[in-house]
Amino acid sequence: MAQFAVEGDFQEYLHVIDDAEAGLTGVIAIHSTAIGPAAGGCRLWHYSSKSELTADAIRLARGMSYKNAVAGLPFGGGKAVLQRPEGSFDREAFFRAYGDAVASLGGTYVTAEDVGTTVADMRAVRERTAYVAGLDAAAGAAGGDPSPWTALGVFEAMKVAARETLSLDLKNATVAIQGTGNVGAGLARLLKQEGAQLILADIDAARVGALAAELSARVVGIDEILAVDSDVVAPCALGGVLDADAIDKLKAQLVCGGANNQLATEADGVRLLGRGIVYAPDYVVNAGGIINVSAEYLGETTQQVSERVHQIAGRLSMVLREARSSGRPSNVVADELAQQIIAERRLQAA
Ligand code: NAD
Repeated sequence: MAQFAVEGDFQEYLHVIDDAEAGLTGVIAIHSTAIGPAAGGCRLWHYSSKSELTADAIRLARGMSYKNAVAGLPFGGGKAVLQRPEGSFDREAFFRAYGDAVASLGGTYVTAEDVGTTVADMRAVRERTAYVAGLDAAAGAAGGDPSPWTALGVFEAMKVAARETLSLDLKNATVAIQGTGNVGAGLARLLKQEGAQLILADIDAARVGALAAELSARVVGIDEILAVDSDVVAPCALGGVLDADAIDKLKAQLVCGGANNQLATEADGVRLLGRGIVYAPDYVVNAGGIINVSAEYLGETTQQVSERVHQIAGRLSMVLREARSSGRPSNVVADELAQQIIAERRLQAA
């Protein structure tokens, strides 16, 4: 496995994985270990080039540093991104080989699930390394699929943001959800219980169809979901979806979802502000999953996870208040908060 230092804000290392026998290629990006081992999930996805895959890993790792810091977790930020092999493949052997790659970093990076990976995959990783979470949980102990916690944190954050910034109760709201995977579906169910109207879209027609039937929701095409008439848009698929074009077409007044790296560029935060649309910074609201992963790794309880996840909405409220009173984009306010926390924790540790 080759290792490169990468230029730029905080970036520490990029570990290149290339295991021809297991059909495993990808990178582990370590953004920061200033306040603890780098923690972040493992994404398995199809990328059209190595540079696209690497750029995604670097950006996701940075998001993890900021997410972990703002959530008050004793971890830095990292992310693994693996190229999904074409056709069928021996999944267990693939993830065992990935476990070897994680083990070779000696605890610098702690892995877990992300888009495209499952608890079963992490079990295969666990055969080769202890630097993994997102495994099966014993009663009362933190662990297991992190996505229900992510969905809960997003839901509570959305509730508070809608009330405080739009004077809107979610039971009277229409929410458009892009992506009905683990997080999107969990969020949709919580919103349904609250009484919200739902509009859904996913590239997987069977998945979105089944969820829409369960929740009496409307389905629209993936090209329409961000532009439909709704009060809130919840990006819960992949990143980079809020670009200039999408922002021009948004009709919702609030964006609050589970996806990582929703803004295509930093400037898109300014664009949202310019259009008067409230943006709930992704890593502030989607920290529930890593809170669960962190607690599992540290041997904590579901009670501790629950308490921390319930703090997410208050943190978002603080960021949005500061953004409103200073007239600055909420993503910039959140980044500054994260950088300040990392700097303070660095000093305390020195
Ligand atoms: P998932 O793989 O279960 O679901 C993603 C869904 O998005 C899939 O159903 C997929 O078909 C759909 N999708 C992909 N491209 C799409 C498009 N262009 N339009 C509409 N749908 C599309 O993944 P997940 O665990 O639900 O994660 C979703 C997002 O939330 C990701 O960005 C992930 O990084 C982020 N996130 C997840 C967690 C977690 O706990 N799982 C935690 C924090 C952040």
